[in-house]
Amino acid sequence: MVASYSWHPGAVPLNPIWPLSKPLLTDELLTSWIIRMALAHGCSPAALTVIAWPGIRAWASDLDRSVSVSRLAVLSKQSGVPCASLQSATLEHVMTSIVRQPHRLLGASWPWLTVLGCRGGHHSGGLQCCPDCIVQSNSRFSIQWRLAWHTCCPIHGVQLIERCGHCLAALQPELLRAGGSLGICHRCGAALNDGTRCDAAVAALAFQRYVDESIGRWPLYGSSPLDFRDWLTVARTMVSFAQAAVRRHSAAAERFFESLGIPLESLQPIPLGLPFEYLSPAERSVLLSIVWVIMSAGPQRFIEAARHESLPASTLHLPTSGSPPVLLDLVAALQSPRHHLVSGVDREHPSSPAQTLRMWLRLKRKVRRRGIR
Ligand SMILES: [Zn+2]
Ligand SMILES: [Zn+2]
Repeated sequence: MVASYSWHPGAVPLNPIWPLSKPLLTDELLTSWIIRMALAHGCSPAALTVIAWPGIRAWASDLDRSVSVSRLAVLSKQSGVPCASLQSATLEHVMTSIVRQPHRLLGASWPWLTVLGCRGGHHSGGLQCCPDCIVQSNSRFSIQWRLAWHTCCPIHGVQLIERCGHCLAALQPELLRAGGSLGICHRCGAALNDGTRCDAAVAALAFQRYVDESIGRWPLYGSSPLDFRDWLTVARTMVSFAQAAVRRHSAAAERFFESLGIPLESLQPIPLGLPFEYLSPAERSVLLSIVWVIMSAGPQRFIEAARHESLPASTLHLPTSGSPPVLLDLVAALQSPRHHLVSGVDREHPSSPAQTLRMWLRLKRKVRRRGIR
């Protein structure tokens, strides 16, 4: 698959001990490489990890999210693929580009990473992929497919899948048996491109493309550039806002969306009210289509429309820590009709660092007075 941003270039084995060692492919997930390595040697992925890490139930947790360097060193020694390259194929590494304080990430769900829901050896959520990319030769499960803003394939124009189209099993390629390949279902053996498929949603694909092109850069919110990680934090807050508003189905929220040009028929409630990262590609695609319009409209337009419909500040759920100033500013603006944006968004020129610091301290005092933490 072709992506506009590459997370790692891959690596070839040097002096491997395993006879049929495989290169790490560009942007490949660590587990995808382990699975291909096992299948190449005629064994199951579980058998290979038992040999490499005796006494460890490697697949009982989300292996791409947490694996120690010492365990990677064992794989590196056997395979000949450098340890640093294997580290770059983990999601822990990826999170340094997505959040400001990756060392503070705890719990089952990390922002913008799809959740597999590991219970013992079984997952409630499948590993998502493009049904057409994954059946091609030299295929791999890529890092991009674990990122929750990815809901479709830009090459084939289809929605990603996370379940087999035949038996509906959540995709768990680590359960493939010897002789299998990444392009088939571990449970029923059907080819993964053999089910019904949905076209990619235009707005969700636009969101995905914009985020991919903005990694490590300064994407725009309104007319002002934001740090990429702050932009993602704002977008994630808007995802929760959209999710809650769609669930409540209030007339005011409907008028708000309508005034931004979001068609009412696109506001389909998401069942169960699960956090965004737990949702299927189709459900995330609905929310991201809405959020793409909200993010494109910018903060000033958001405030005007929200004030017009008297949406309370409580509709914006800020993250527990690390809210960028523009988000605090949005909350403050919704609380006070006289409040004007102070964080510099939508200005022609960015503020100086001293100005920004003064505004930030003023805003913090104001927010503290009003009892928001
Ligand atoms: Zn594809
Ligand atoms: Zn199946």
